[in-house]
Amino acid sequence: MTDENAELFGRALSVIPGGVNSPVRAFNSVGGTPYFVARAEGAHVIDENGQRYIDMVQSYGAIILGHAHPVVVDAISRAALDGTSYGAPTRREVELAERITQLVPSCDQIRLVNSGTEATMSAVRLARGATGRDKILKFAGNYHGHADGLMAAAGSAVMGLGLPGSAGVPAAAVADTLVAPYNKVPVLDDSVAAVIIEPVAANMGLVPPTQEFLFGLRAECDRSGALLIFDEVITGFRLGLGGAQERFGITPDLSCFGKVIGGGLPIAAFGGRAGIMEHLAPAGAVYQAGTLSGNPLATAAGLAVLGELDADFYATIEARVSRLVAGLAAALKPLAATVPHLGTLYGIYFGENPAQDYDAAKLTNEKLYADFFHGMLRGGVAMAPGAYEVGFVGGAHSDELIDEVIATAQEVVAGLL
Ligand code: PMP
Repeated sequence: MTDENAELFGRALSVIPGGVNSPVRAFNSVGGTPYFVARAEGAHVIDENGQRYIDMVQSYGAIILGHAHPVVVDAISRAALDGTSYGAPTRREVELAERITQLVPSCDQIRLVNSGTEATMSAVRLARGATGRDKILKFAGNYHGHADGLMAAAGSAVMGLGLPGSAGVPAAAVADTLVAPYNKVPVLDDSVAAVIIEPVAANMGLVPPTQEFLFGLRAECDRSGALLIFDEVITGFRLGLGGAQERFGITPDLSCFGKVIGGGLPIAAFGGRAGIMEHLAPAGAVYQAGTLSGNPLATAAGLAVLGELDADFYATIEARVSRLVAGLAAALKPLAATVPHLGTLYGIYFGENPAQDYDAAKLTNEKLYADFFHGMLRGGVAMAPGAYEVGFVGGAHSDELIDEVIATAQEVVAGLL
């Protein structure tokens, strides 16, 4: 039988740099050939060889109801019949903005964009425009997408590839970017327009914030006049309907969303108080735009997903993550690995004391992660092919499937001892 994955990857390598459209997918940090997904349903992905995996990637958190959820498929299909993009405003953009602003009280207004990268990049520009200040501060190991100014000590695949930042980013582009250690309140002066943060760090493995850190940061922003930007691209509508800000009881000035709010279609958003948001063109002087922004299929998918989410849904997912975390922690104990988690998010850290910051996060045993990853894949469980990504559990991961993942982990660990 031909190995369709290998065949496709071979073809991809000649026409797509590294064979993939986003680096972590290439398996560079774990080795081997990526599986090419032919289709997906519920908690499973099925590759081009017909191999089924329990999928713990879930499009890095873009999927929360499970793959090909009928309500989402139906909404997209019906929307497509009416056309795929117009270049004029639509009803569903208003409805999605209303829904998000109802669920996230810190946002009076939001603007829809096409990716998390655009959301953070635009929020930073807005913060600079609104404050008249130039500097921004980010935390080492936090990832906010691949805009130039935020490519300093970034997490996710940047970390997995061992890159300090990126070639092609001029020093001038990051000259106004300050980088501080996570979980330590920085001292700000009046040149800082904004502090951007993953309120729960989920791109250097899972690193929960301390409560004092987040509260201290809010206070320091208030004292110095910097805006606090919560990058909730992962945590938004994942930790709960109100995201990390609701969970911790902190009101950021601006928030960025992505992933869940598009049900797997390219949409993201940033939002905040009207007084800040009204600096955006055409209301104000900060330019921001997009041909496909508020796309009809993406807004249909987003509204369909948000319509399915409520407190019970999150309680169910959280219980499943707890079950998984307990099982994985026990299974991985002989390898001295730990399973940091917060609410519906978890990571795997190959070290005994879970990391609190980037320096500690980098100490995870990447080689052991790669071995564990490949064992799990052979056992029918697809985890992220990078040691610094977190895991995602959604509406389709039944308790039985969670137990299957745990049993597979036990077998893999036994084989690695
Ligand atoms: N912010 C965070 C916290 C993210 O995790 C990501 C992507 N994983 C982004 C921003 C960038 O989003 P996108 O890949 O959609 O550009």
